[in-house]
Amino acid sequence: MASPRARTPLAEQVDELLADGGPLPIVAAGDPVLRRPAEPFDGQLEPALLTRFVQALRLTMHAAPGVGLAAPQVGVGLRIAVVEDPAPVPEEVREARGRVPLPFRVLVNPSYDAVGTGRAAFYEGCLSVPGWQAVVARHAEVRLRALDERGQAVDEVLSGWPARIVQHETDHLEGTLYLDRAEPRSLSSNDAMAHRWNQPTPERAARALGFELP
Ligand code: ZN
Repeated sequence: MASPRARTPLAEQVDELLADGGPLPIVAAGDPVLRRPAEPFDGQLEPALLTRFVQALRLTMHAAPGVGLAAPQVGVGLRIAVVEDPAPVPEEVREARGRVPLPFRVLVNPSYDAVGTGRAAFYEGCLSVPGWQAVVARHAEVRLRALDERGQAVDEVLSGWPARIVQHETDHLEGTLYLDRAEPRSLSSNDAMAHRWNQPTPERAARALGFELP
């Protein structure tokens, strides 16, 4: 009997993952899927399944809550990530960190390159490393190249917090966690973040904990 084109193992995996309909379980550091470069997306999920998967990533990101989520964080080794940041922060934080709203978008096969030599160092966290945050010095400005969920090319220059989010999520697709790039001595629990290091910049933390800022 004739059968439709064989489904890929990744399609089977995603189908199973979506069966429950709720937010997806987030994979924590220590799972090898977070350490393997993800496969470039090349139609492994048929369009309807890709749409459902992207919706589930968005739902999971909102539920966490987070401002970005990469497919490996739900155990799927594909180069797909979602980002969205309404940036509900006080004006002084917005100014210090460049944390401006980033509308929802899907990044398929993203990559980035530094624009200029500027660096920006701030605390960040990761849904796959719950309970902790650390300072990461990142490119202040990057050129993002990707496809969107409809296969349209994305090519734009981002700065401030959107640049940080895009670097963090794209790094996930290479098997890199933010801790790989962090100042080890800045590592702080969420409790320490809330009570000690909630200033707009990490300067006070750098002096007290003994790490360098660029
Ligand atoms: Zn992360």
